[in-house]
Amino acid sequence: MNKFSGKGVYGAIAIGKISVFKRQEVSVHKTHVTDVEHEKNRVNSAKELARNQLQEIYNKAKKEVGETNAQIFEIHMMMIDDDDYNESIISIIETQLVNAEYAVAKTSEIFVQKFSSMEDSYMQARAADIKDISNRIIQNLDTSNARSSENDEKVIICADDMAPSETVLLDKEKVLAFVTAGGSINSHTAILARNMNIPAIIGVGADFLSVIKDGDSAIVDGYTGDFIISPDEKTESDYLEKQSYDRSRKELLHTLKGKDNVTIDGKKINVFANIGSTDDIGPVLANDAGGIGLFRSEFIYLESNDYPTEDEQFTAYKKALVSMAGKKVIIRTLDIGADKKAKYFDLPHEENPALGFRAIRICLSRPEIFKTQLRALLRASAYGNLGIMFPMITSVSELERVLVICDAVKAELKEKGIKYNENTELGIMIETPAAAVISDKLAPLVDFFSVGTNDLTQYTLACDRQNPSVEQYCDNHHEAILRLIETSSQNAHANGAWIGICGELAADTTLTERFLRMGIDELSVSPSYILKIREKVRSIDLSK
Ligand code: PEP
Ligand code: MG
Repeated sequence: MNKFSGKGVYGAIAIGKISVFKRQEVSVHKTHVTDVEHEKNRVNSAKELARNQLQEIYNKAKKEVGETNAQIFEIHMMMIDDDDYNESIISIIETQLVNAEYAVAKTSEIFVQKFSSMEDSYMQARAADIKDISNRIIQNLDTSNARSSENDEKVIICADDMAPSETVLLDKEKVLAFVTAGGSINSHTAILARNMNIPAIIGVGADFLSVIKDGDSAIVDGYTGDFIISPDEKTESDYLEKQSYDRSRKELLHTLKGKDNVTIDGKKINVFANIGSTDDIGPVLANDAGGIGLFRSEFIYLESNDYPTEDEQFTAYKKALVSMAGKKVIIRTLDIGADKKAKYFDLPHEENPALGFRAIRICLSRPEIFKTQLRALLRASAYGNLGIMFPMITSVSELERVLVICDAVKAELKEKGIKYNENTELGIMIETPAAAVISDKLAPLVDFFSVGTNDLTQYTLACDRQNPSVEQYCDNHHEAILRLIETSSQNAHANGAWIGICGELAADTTLTERFLRMGIDELSVSPSYILKIREKVRSIDLSK
């Protein structure tokens, strides 16, 4: 038995087998082959495996998200047998005498280009599907890499560190817990773990990686940050007991479902949920959230190998709005940059990325990307109660430029007769000290503020949220942070705007009363914290 310690990110206990995280090698090398028939047979076997995998995914999706949403996997199965696609692969192998991987990758490139250049937006969207099935076939060609579809056991993922883009690509159904050598509490990877409701421990230090191997049994205690490898019988049975107590306590919270978020003296507050993708909507509904206070739309970009098309985005936003059936859904525009990087953005290397080219700065300097997203958002607004929120605002002029672009997109939609909701609320994140200090000037321009305490803390206290060695300075209870929130709240209300908090601090129940006394109207937290906040709100008496 070996014990390591780090920081628990989400309170729960996991007991299971370790899987050491392996980074996927995506580059395909071109090699010369002599046995053409062998390569063609390899393609056929990889396709056969892909068909089986897709059938299994289709069946699961049909059960979980319904037939309409599952249809995409049927389309993928049909694409695998498309004559033109297959002829291209075979012809590249035969004429160029190259390996199957290269032939599939080249065919994918040709077809993606063909689909992307089509006028019809439906056909354009098929480019992503071609990429998807081609990647699947390429992965299956490497038999050491091809994942047997029977291996469905949930595992404890152990890694040195994980980028948000790597975390979102994990099959959430198969992750029991995370343990990483590096990382910090407010990193996006930690936030994702919280959103996924899985116990996670970060900052364990690199030593544990040399002790573990795939298949070792282990215990993750997300409360204490303890990570126990190869536990003895007694330890395991103690933890099984702790796990079952933890589960029953969480179940107890579910008796609060359907109740109001109201204080003893009658003050109501909105308790909303933070999500990173439409996959998180299940837990949002299961935990009885009053709405979605932060949909981090950049995760749609991180999950793609290329800029998501307007239609792809529209489909995701519409799904969130329809699923929430008229409840508020606040979608934040692209907050890419800093730790959230997608290769295809081709962002410059920066010494201080958190202080660099990020979020609204990228959108304003690449307006076409921004406009595509705004068009998708506004089109989706016709299907529910949307709020659009802009990240990383630091000045009035910046916000004015954003609003001019928004108006231009609305005018364009109107001219084309495309429906959207004129009353879509527009708001900004208060996550830079500058925005909080000039919140009196910003509030008249928007309908709402949402305080991003994760960034507000790092920028106010000058401590990188990604850097574990300065975590001791990241005191998010610091009076400076609380005063900035209070100032923003006063200025929002003085100008007829409402204010919420969507950073991780919103879930800190030791501050709930203080937030309510400041006049905060909404708290947006990971779905699993909603009922805990409800319990806390219902215990507060503001009249005392
Ligand atoms: C924040 O900064 O508090 C926030 C909610 O945004 P993110 O964590 O995605 O930067
Ligand atoms: Mg932020």
